[in-house]
Amino acid sequence: MTAADKTISPADGAPAGVRGIAPYRPGRPIGEVARALGLDPARIVKLASNENPLGMSKKALAAAQAVLTGPEAARYPDANGHELKRALAAHYGVDAGWITLGNGSNDILELAGRALCQADDEIIYACYAFIVYPLVAQALGARGIEVPDRDHGHDLEAMRAAITPKTRLIFLANPNNPTGTFIPGDELLRFLEQVPPQVAVVLDEAYTEYLRPEDRYDALAWVARFPNLIVSRTFSKAYGLAALRVGFAVAQPALTDLMGRVRQPFNVNSAALAAAEAVLGDADYLQRSYQLNQDGLKQLAEGFAALGLDYVPSWGNFLLVKVGDAAAVNDAMLRAGVIVRPVGNYGLPEWLRISVGLPEENAACLKALAAALGR
Ligand SMILES: *Cc1c(COP(=O)(O)O)cnc(C)c1O
Repeated sequence: MTAADKTISPADGAPAGVRGIAPYRPGRPIGEVARALGLDPARIVKLASNENPLGMSKKALAAAQAVLTGPEAARYPDANGHELKRALAAHYGVDAGWITLGNGSNDILELAGRALCQADDEIIYACYAFIVYPLVAQALGARGIEVPDRDHGHDLEAMRAAITPKTRLIFLANPNNPTGTFIPGDELLRFLEQVPPQVAVVLDEAYTEYLRPEDRYDALAWVARFPNLIVSRTFSKAYGLAALRVGFAVAQPALTDLMGRVRQPFNVNSAALAAAEAVLGDADYLQRSYQLNQDGLKQLAEGFAALGLDYVPSWGNFLLVKVGDAAAVNDAMLRAGVIVRPVGNYGLPEWLRISVGLPEENAACLKALAAALGR
């Protein structure tokens, strides 16, 4: 082995888990699709990443702009996110010392994994749950235990039965992405009561703001009762800050402290901190986001029904719809300028996940879908 030997690479010795990762496949960006297909980017409809179709809240935008044009823009952000934590604590009635901020809630999911798990530990998640959970497990060399679904959603009984002495972490998404399924609060609570205390539960509530009033439950209040519970939330969906990357976790001090140790000191940037604090105070924006989504879910569901397509009832801001050869339908829709999300990588090759857009975007999507199906 000499320095000149080009047949040997450090990549060869990379951890097997890392080498085995199938990279996360994001919804295709508008610019990329426009370039690839020679389309006008202004006419492309993107319903592929569960983003907020209203665009950013004006209050959030003003706050971010003030940071970027102000004297602090060249400085590091507040490493502890003091102001945002204070605002979150007041808004949600939690202790500011129990909050961990993340670069998106994706960061929170990784922090929980890195803080608590090592190689050969077991991490449980549901089949068709958010694909980042297996990615976290693989990157750590942990064993991902995928529990079969029940009607596309979580089978909590089976997940509890999958717990072994090696289990360290359970990921739950409620509502779940990409299926949109929902676990009622009372069932979740019963599950938490049955999980042994040495096993942490990450309850990923990325879409919780979209729940109808009759379905809402307050997991943040449960954290005081369950020292093994980590509740994860994001500003990327209903709060409309996907580009800025802010999420947070609420957990008791022991787990919060551990996540803080593996966190990058400046993981949330100044513009994001300011925008998140501002949008938290923009109740009108959140209400409009909620209502637009309720209306859009109905519009899409009715459109799917009119086309005779099966779909999974959704509690999120997207719908999973069965179209047959989803790769072909997706290609045809792309050529018509509508970007949706194939979910073959979730083991759902006959389905597409379609995010709720503005009414005219939903209509354009249904039209492209009908055409792609030859209707
Ligand atoms: C979108 C999403 C997230 C993460 O989004 P961030 O932008 O990283 O906050 C987390 N969990 C689920 C289930 C999601 O769908």
